[in-house]
This record gives sequence, structure tokens and C-alpha cells, in this order.
Amino acid sequence: MPINSSSSTSYHSSPNPSVMCLCGIRAPLRTSNSEDNPGRRFFGCINYKEYNGCTYFDWFDPPTCARGMDYGRKMVKKNLALEAQIAELKKTNEAHIAELKKSNESLIEKIEELLTINEEQKHEMEGQRVVIEALMKKSTVHEANWNKMKIALLVLFLVVICMWVKPNDAV
Ligand SMILES: [Zn+2]
Repeated sequence: MPINSSSSTSYHSSPNPSVMCLCGIRAPLRTSNSEDNPGRRFFGCINYKEYNGCTYFDWFDPPTCARGMDYGRKMVKKNLALEAQIAELKKTNEAHIAELKKSNESLIEKIEELLTINEEQKHEMEGQRVVIEALMKKSTVHEANWNKMKIALLVLFLVVICMWVKPNDAV
């Protein structure tokens, strides 16, 4: 059932009425947040904020009783407080996210730094391993030489003994 714009006393019984406003588009059903009509539904054009905008307006709900008005005002107040709280939490949350991002970036930087140090240490250890291997090789060569020397000394000692013993036998 279409409503004419000047009427503020006709109400709608249909839960989903299709109402056309003055500019020829469907006027959405909205809910009032005002202190005078908390929670009371109305039809209002989406262009009402425009310059020379559509002035179409009509209540959907009948006026609220005193008890309902009181309750509605409390609800609106509570709702506004909750919205403010949500906005504050969003702000805090955003600050936390920014902080976390920052510390995450610094952690990544540190990890990269540690990886670089690790790579450098790997190279250093590889160098030390090569040096140790060379030293071990040298040490093995020295040991083999020393063994040869011991054998030579033993042979020399035996030769000397034999030479010393033979002349005695001859006597
Ligand atoms: Zn309109």
C-alpha cells in the first residue's frame, strides 16, 4: 500500500511493504535511533542527505508507549556506548596489529642477520677443517719418517753390536 508523503499517521501492517518515495525509487525501511522515537521504524529516502534531496518520510510503526520509549532510550544509549566501545577496541586492535607487524619485521631482520652469521661461521669452520686435515696429514708423514728413523737406528745398532761381537769371537 503506497503512502503519501504528507501522511505521518498511516501505518503499515505488512512486514515487508514496498514503498516508493518521491524520486521514484524504493524507500527502505529503517529504524530510528533518536531519543524521541527510539527503535521506531520508518520509511526514508536514501537521497535525503543530498542537496535539494528527497524529503520523503513516513513512519512504519505507530508511536511507542511511554514504557517502550523509556526502554528504547535506554537501549539506544546502551547501543551507542557499545558502539563507542567497539570503536575503541578497533583502535586498540589496530595499534596492536601495527605493533605486531613492526616486531615481526624486526624478527625477520634478526633471523636474516643470524642466517648470514651462520653462513659466515660455516665458511670459517670449513676453512678450519681444511687446516686440521692438512696438519693431520703432516703429522702422519712425520710419524712415518720417525718410524723409518727408528728402524734405521735399530739396524745401525745391530750392525755395531755384530761388529763388536765378531772381533771378540776371532780372539
Ligand atoms: Zn526519494
